Amino acid sequence: MAHVLIIGAGGVGRVVTHKCVMNKETFTKITLASRRLSSCETIAKELPSDAVNIAQVDADNTDELADLITKIGAQLVINVALPYQDLTIMDACLKTNTPYLDTANYEHPDEAKFEYKEQWAKHEAFKEKGLLALLGSGFDPGVTNVFCAYAQKHYFDEIHTIDILDCNAGDHGYAFATNFNPEINLREVSANGRYWEEGKWIETKPMEIKMVWDYPEVGPKDSYLLYHEEMESLVKHIKGLKRIRFFMTFGESYLTHMKCLENVGMLGIKEVEHKGQKIVPMEFLRTLLPDPATLGPRTKGLTNIGIVAEGIKDGQKKKIYIYQVSDHEKCYAEVKSQGVSYTTGVPAMIGAKLMIEGKWSAKGVFNMEEFDPDIFMDELNKQGLPWQIKELD
Ligand code: NDP
Repeated sequence: MAHVLIIGAGGVGRVVTHKCVMNKETFTKITLASRRLSSCETIAKELPSDAVNIAQVDADNTDELADLITKIGAQLVINVALPYQDLTIMDACLKTNTPYLDTANYEHPDEAKFEYKEQWAKHEAFKEKGLLALLGSGFDPGVTNVFCAYAQKHYFDEIHTIDILDCNAGDHGYAFATNFNPEINLREVSANGRYWEEGKWIETKPMEIKMVWDYPEVGPKDSYLLYHEEMESLVKHIKGLKRIRFFMTFGESYLTHMKCLENVGMLGIKEVEHKGQKIVPMEFLRTLLPDPATLGPRTKGLTNIGIVAEGIKDGQKKKIYIYQVSDHEKCYAEVKSQGVSYTTGVPAMIGAKLMIEGKWSAKGVFNMEEFDPDIFMDELNKQGLPWQIKELD
């Protein structure tokens, strides 16, 4: 039904491309474009020869991207490049009247800070053009927002607290590696934590707050409070909310490596002079670390991401846990990617599918929890991310 342009031939881009090909009745034409054509070629070779067209594009350059969108006649852009490109890609969509979808909010390359402000500021522009920009259609953000909307719709009159719980119990066998883009990942976990309570953001030191959560199928794991972007939109859209927090699991070894790298300055994002050349330590570290796209064949174990919501239904207190468990090896067997890319790429494809089929439609810039969650939840079950709900005491 539509020609989709996928931008970014990385770990997530691979999953989105495979999944779009598996849903070719919706994605009748698929173009995968990235900074390097070779990244697109690698993915295209994994698929039937006529399944995907490929193109080279620098998505930092709005005009270059707009020319590509026009030349190929793309009807939807899925942005799975890096968060640094969100604004230029949104601008290219506005320039060419094309709907937009991404999985991560805008981050400035020179500042370890991410927020929706600049993307939300484009709401009127998208609205005037009658276009939808769907933000954060990955797992977290993404499915976690949909879980919250589903809890609100079916289980509560008012939700008072939400804890988002993200566990990756996968083992890739390396002493230290990140499961998605190292720069984005390390910037996120080395930053101060933050949660929202009674209308205010409360800042914590990195890894200051820890709890142990017993993840079904994985077992008890240390889970640390982090700031995560979906909280910024959920505090606006979930009625009666008094507190929202985000926790992610980390092993001792990961945290020790990260602390060491931070202590010696390797997580720095400002240029330093080295033998007459300017280098950014974090970018250099990225060169040294294993490419997340190569972790697929080595990673074993499960991911388990979900939300615990507590509130009131018909005057009674209620607490539920909605969660999804994925197996890294099964993900690899299906689409040649490990579970973190898989759990991000599948919801990106689903969001795009609902947009193309007109099941999620609106004019302007929207977050996931603003749409009817039921159709998205059905698609999760059909497209490889089955979920479960438990009522807790
Ligand atoms: P990767 O680093 O594996 O891939 C990013 C790709 O973007 C690379 O292939 C790179 O291209 C391409 N790219 C970078 N800059 C440009 C540019 N200027 N123009 C065109 N292409 C460019 O990252 P991931 O696949 O792991 O992550 C992709 C996105 O998904 C990120 O935004 C990340 O934050 C997000 N994400 C979201 C999650 C969620 O649950 N919501 C979870 C995990 C990730 P090339 O190879 O051609 O050089």
